[in-house]
Amino acid sequence: MDTLEKSTSPATTNPSSGATFKVYNPATGEQLAELPVMTPDQVEQAVRRAGTAQKEWAALSFNERRKVMLRWRSKLVANKEKIVETLVAENGKPPLEALMELFYLADVIGYYCAQAPRFLKGYKVPLHLLKTKRARVVYHPVGVVGVISPWNFPLLLGFGDALAALVAGNAVVVKPSEVTPLSALRLVELAEGVGFPPGLLQVVTGWGETGGSLVDNADLIAFTGGTNTGKKVMERASRRLVPVLLELGGKDPMIVLKDADLDRAARGAVAGAFFNSGQVCISVEKLFVEAPVYDVFVAKVVEQVKRLRLGSPAGDPSNRDLGPMTYQGQLDIVEQQVADARVKGAHILTGGKRGEGLFYEPTVLTNVTPDMLVMREETFGPLLPIIKVKDADEALRLANASNFGLSSSIWTGDTSRGEALAQKLEAGSTCVNDVFINYILPEVPFGGIKDSGLGYRHGGADSLRKFCRPQTILTDRFGLKSEPIWLPYGKKVPKLLGFALNLMYKRKYS
Ligand code: NDP
Repeated sequence: MDTLEKSTSPATTNPSSGATFKVYNPATGEQLAELPVMTPDQVEQAVRRAGTAQKEWAALSFNERRKVMLRWRSKLVANKEKIVETLVAENGKPPLEALMELFYLADVIGYYCAQAPRFLKGYKVPLHLLKTKRARVVYHPVGVVGVISPWNFPLLLGFGDALAALVAGNAVVVKPSEVTPLSALRLVELAEGVGFPPGLLQVVTGWGETGGSLVDNADLIAFTGGTNTGKKVMERASRRLVPVLLELGGKDPMIVLKDADLDRAARGAVAGAFFNSGQVCISVEKLFVEAPVYDVFVAKVVEQVKRLRLGSPAGDPSNRDLGPMTYQGQLDIVEQQVADARVKGAHILTGGKRGEGLFYEPTVLTNVTPDMLVMREETFGPLLPIIKVKDADEALRLANASNFGLSSSIWTGDTSRGEALAQKLEAGSTCVNDVFINYILPEVPFGGIKDSGLGYRHGGADSLRKFCRPQTILTDRFGLKSEPIWLPYGKKVPKLLGFALNLMYKRKYS
């Protein structure tokens, strides 16, 4: 299975023309494709071509852009089997989960198209001081958006941002992970003939350095991936001062209080920890349970986990809950964390070993301690460590003791208390009695804090506005010959200004 390693090519080395990389099916080891590693020149050309197309696209009205987007959506839905097949083949996830990704894209295309006129039409700003002026803010697309995406959700993460950027009037160049580039290519192939100007939406294939070249050329970078890579991207973008939106890793806590519906919470924990084999930035990575319900809750979780069907390379992919890990490097991290936890005294209640090929059993660990890797570092795999806590305060303290702050959840019979406690969690979002569903709701902001992200929010108006540059337009209303504060200053101006200062701001406050 060595061939399923992510590329070992150093990210800092410029690829020469003619280099290629291979894409494999993680469930079977079969080679699916061999693709070019695009050189910096090729990436630059792609961005230049996208820039030309963008001018044509931005000149269209919202309504004209909407028609094209919706035509693309119809074509994507009509070709759903092909898309699901490609995604399952390169990523290994169950077909149902692949379909969920497509469903998300189809839904947000509609949402963004419907809301674009409202979110992007600009607005008048009433001025509190200078009533002789009027001001408004308008939004312009930034130009060419470079989307750099990971391999765990090639559609949702590769194209969720891309289509928001398109609706906002930008061109998009996507650099998918070298592990899963085929779904992106499939989507772009299906964009042919729907009415996009040629070159408006492109994919550049290759290693990390291809992403680096995109950073060197695009007008804005929307990056989703690991925290360390995100820092490199930001550093590189700083050379040209281009804006960067970073969606990074997580170590999401789940807190179960003693008054929670334990059956629902146990099912939620299993879904939250093992969806997509745990290769989810917002998966449940640490589970804190109040002492009085700890034993019974852990038993319920273990019972649920034992019912999960781990696929086998030869098995029917539609008849499984968990696929393989998507590539060898991620499996290595999982094995390393379990080995470390075992040595340091963790109890493995179920799972704890690999299956055939890249499959890894869903694993529940207890007796875990803060010094274990599984508690300190992002796992991004099917591991669920459970920790007994005295009360909600202890749970909050331990949950917040992390460099990450992406998402989180609290489970309780008292939703008002849950919402109050939620505000004490250091995370970009918190669900009460639910798990990570907020991600797919385009109305509400999503984005991480601390090492989990910077500058990135999708949801509501920000979904589209983050791909625009706002411009303030200020107009003088009355056309006086001069303004009191223009040069040269009149003799009375200092007196007048002092008078205004006293009149407006001298009041004392006790
Ligand atoms: P990486 O950070 O390794 O890669 C992300 C993308 O960046 C890939 O396309 C990668 O290309 C590219 N890349 C790698 N090096 C560079 C570079 N120097 N310059 C520019 N681009 C580069 O992440 P993974 O793909 O391994 O994804 C897993 C990580 O993503 C986890 O930490 C996870 O938490 C995070 N993530 C965060 C999400 C969120 O919403 N907050 C959602 C999903 C994942 P290549 O693959 O070809 O090396």
